Amino acid sequence: MKLTSAEFVGSATGPRDFPRDRQPEIAFAGRSNVGKSSLLNRLLGRRRLARVSRTPGRTQTINFYWINGAFYFVDLPGYGYAKVAERMRRSWAPMVEGYLRTRAVLRAVVMIVDARHPPSPLDQEMRAWLQAARIPHLVVLTKVDKVKRGARRRAREGSAAVLGMRDPENLLLFSAVTGEGERELWQHLAQYLHRSGHGVR
Ligand code: GDP
Repeated sequence: MKLTSAEFVGSATGPRDFPRDRQPEIAFAGRSNVGKSSLLNRLLGRRRLARVSRTPGRTQTINFYWINGAFYFVDLPGYGYAKVAERMRRSWAPMVEGYLRTRAVLRAVVMIVDARHPPSPLDQEMRAWLQAARIPHLVVLTKVDKVKRGARRRAREGSAAVLGMRDPENLLLFSAVTGEGERELWQHLAQYLHRSGHGVR
């Protein structure tokens, strides 16, 4: 799939502000500071639409980007940043779970994990939650440019094991710095978008 256009359309804290035009959506989730904005900017051709965080965990809105005049990218707030105020942390779960549970147009969630470290307990929780909710999802190990070639297979297998995924090949290696994995990620997204919705939830 080729990117032809991308535009930021708005932020939301609840269903009132979600787009109403029933176009398909792909959501992006991950721990704060994992590299989600960088991944989005890479996919969107370095347009710097997503804000790379100076203050991790500050962006606590769901951000919508209208892509190719055909679908949305949905940037979910990052989870699990220690310094996020308790008040913010309490608002995260209802906001994100509310989005994930009710969004009939959601085709898939791209869950982003740091390739350099084993997935955190919150990553494990997120993956288990997506699985239990039967939401199609793809795990992307980002910052792989920081992992030596020889250590990549182990990183992939280790992460797959921690996340309870049977096939490590289902984890995609990615780098926002080198662009590794970018084409493959677009191919996956195109497949999710070409499938019809996964039914009523
Ligand atoms: P977010 O909070 O998840 O949106 O994370 P950011 O995109 O703001 O990235 C957090 C930090 O990780 C920044 O310092 C980025 O420059 C760095 N970063 C993000 N992606 C990569 C990557 O693929 N490789 C490397 N080496 N650094 C990255």
